Amino acid sequence: KKVADRYLKREVLGEGTYGVVYKAIDTQTGQTVAIKKIRLGKQKEGVNFTALREIKLLKELKDSNIIELIDAFPHKENLHLVFEFMETDLEAVIRDRNIFLSPADIKSYLQMTLKGLAFCHKKWVLHRDMKPNNLLIGPNGQLKLADFGLARIFGSPDRRYTHQVFARWYRAPELLFGSKQYGSAVDVWAAACIFAELLLRRPFLQGSSDIDQLGKIFAAFGTPTTSQWSDMLYLPDYVEFQYVPAPPLRSLFPMASDDTLDLLSKMFAYDPKFRISIQQALEHRYFTSAPLPTDPSKLPRPT
Ligand code: ADP
Repeated sequence: KKVADRYLKREVLGEGTYGVVYKAIDTQTGQTVAIKKIRLGKQKEGVNFTALREIKLLKELKDSNIIELIDAFPHKENLHLVFEFMETDLEAVIRDRNIFLSPADIKSYLQMTLKGLAFCHKKWVLHRDMKPNNLLIGPNGQLKLADFGLARIFGSPDRRYTHQVFARWYRAPELLFGSKQYGSAVDVWAAACIFAELLLRRPFLQGSSDIDQLGKIFAAFGTPTTSQWSDMLYLPDYVEFQYVPAPPLRSLFPMASDDTLDLLSKMFAYDPKFRISIQQALEHRYFTSAPLPTDPSKLPRPT
């Protein structure tokens, strides 16, 4: 079936946060694409126009570490977003027991993630929903961030009906405490969780509810004190937690290098004001000290 007289729909690739994703052929270019169908049905008149206008801005975000939004158009009750087609994602890489990830491979995957984020933060676009299955991997090993800016345009989706990995595990503490004035630091926290997941080969902080998520964070890094994070007390959903001291970070990541632990601890800073920025993280000595990041084309991938 053809949509917008241009795309030949093929099989369903999966059900995502906002709707079904199809594989399709762009008959104008012959290129394989992924079409994300976003349900707009229940929303009020006008939302469609706002969404469409904002989506047009995303089309301008072009970078080698960002999934290209090729086209966007309304069709029936849905908004169709056309993206370049990607072979696999970082979640599949992390979960694949046949794949060995060397420290250089982990560095390469993290560097590409941070480069994509740096580009978007420079343009004042936040991701807000970073997780390994949003980091897609192309035929030449390039990692590209998917779903940029969608969380802000469409709001936090109703996750009850999706079988996705809980994005809660990647939520920064300020979001879990209900902060509404959050900034780019939320993407840094999520990137740190992904960094930790690459090292551990399993999700680092697997909370079963928002409160449990905070409990897991505080068990890992110690309950934040007001001297570490003074504004915490004024967040809308702030609740006091029993004090637990921080275990040595080394005990959680026994195999990691000193550079790895130093960068990780700076990305996991409690106070978003003091959390390292994406740009600073990219300039951290972790990326220039041996081993150097693996060339993307040489990265191990699922077969
Ligand atoms: P979620 O909202 O849970 O992150 P998505 O809506 O992004 O999921 O994607 C749903 C499914 O479609 C996933 O299985 C994903 O692998 C696949 N998919 C999404 N975007 C692309 C793409 N650009 N190329 C290939 N597959 C994709």
